[in-house]
Amino acid sequence: MLIVLLGPPGAGKGTQSKKICETMNLFHFSTGDILRNEVKEKTEIGLKIESIINAGNLVGDEIILEIVKKILKNELGKNKGILFDGFPRNFDQANAFESLLKDMKKQINFVIHLSVDQHEILKRIEKRQIDENREDDDVKVLKSRMNVYSNETMPLVDLYEKKNILKTINGMKTVEEVNNDIINCLK
Ligand code: ADP
Repeated sequence: MLIVLLGPPGAGKGTQSKKICETMNLFHFSTGDILRNEVKEKTEIGLKIESIINAGNLVGDEIILEIVKKILKNELGKNKGILFDGFPRNFDQANAFESLLKDMKKQINFVIHLSVDQHEILKRIEKRQIDENREDDDVKVLKSRMNVYSNETMPLVDLYEKKNILKTINGMKTVEEVNNDIINCLK
């Protein structure tokens, strides 16, 4: 089972991913977590991308696709599904993803679109900035992350709707309610 989780910053992708992966025994692949770790460890990639992430922009597709290829190679053979959290994030990534999967005779089973309104996002990110102290959870940076999401990632909602694999979930309920709704729609 290959599942993609789409949603704006602050939609609860990370929280829900962890729960879905536990319940459905999937590998949690979060591009954001991997990239933040590269920055923390000050790797070659980390040094290149730190300012991009902190400004709320997308890291180059080349870097992302290298990471994705490595994960697909390592995880697809293990007979465990994968949950993609934060990838793909634009058309080029979606197209490249599709052709990588095609070569491996795989396809995305479902795309879950977590929908949350802007007012709620702002509230959640302000709280997360206090709890987790992420550099990109600054209100000014959040504006640019939200713009990037609307301009580059939102079009993927239409793309996957046309492919008939999109499931839109209302992300404005409690963590447990949202999780139940997701699990029910995957059954
Ligand atoms: P959020 O969705 O809440 O903004 P993420 O942890 O998914 O948080 O992403 C944090 C940052 O990591 C993004 O703003 C972007 O800079 C970078 N990033 C994550 N995934 C990708 C991707 N697939 N392509 C390009 N950049 C990415």
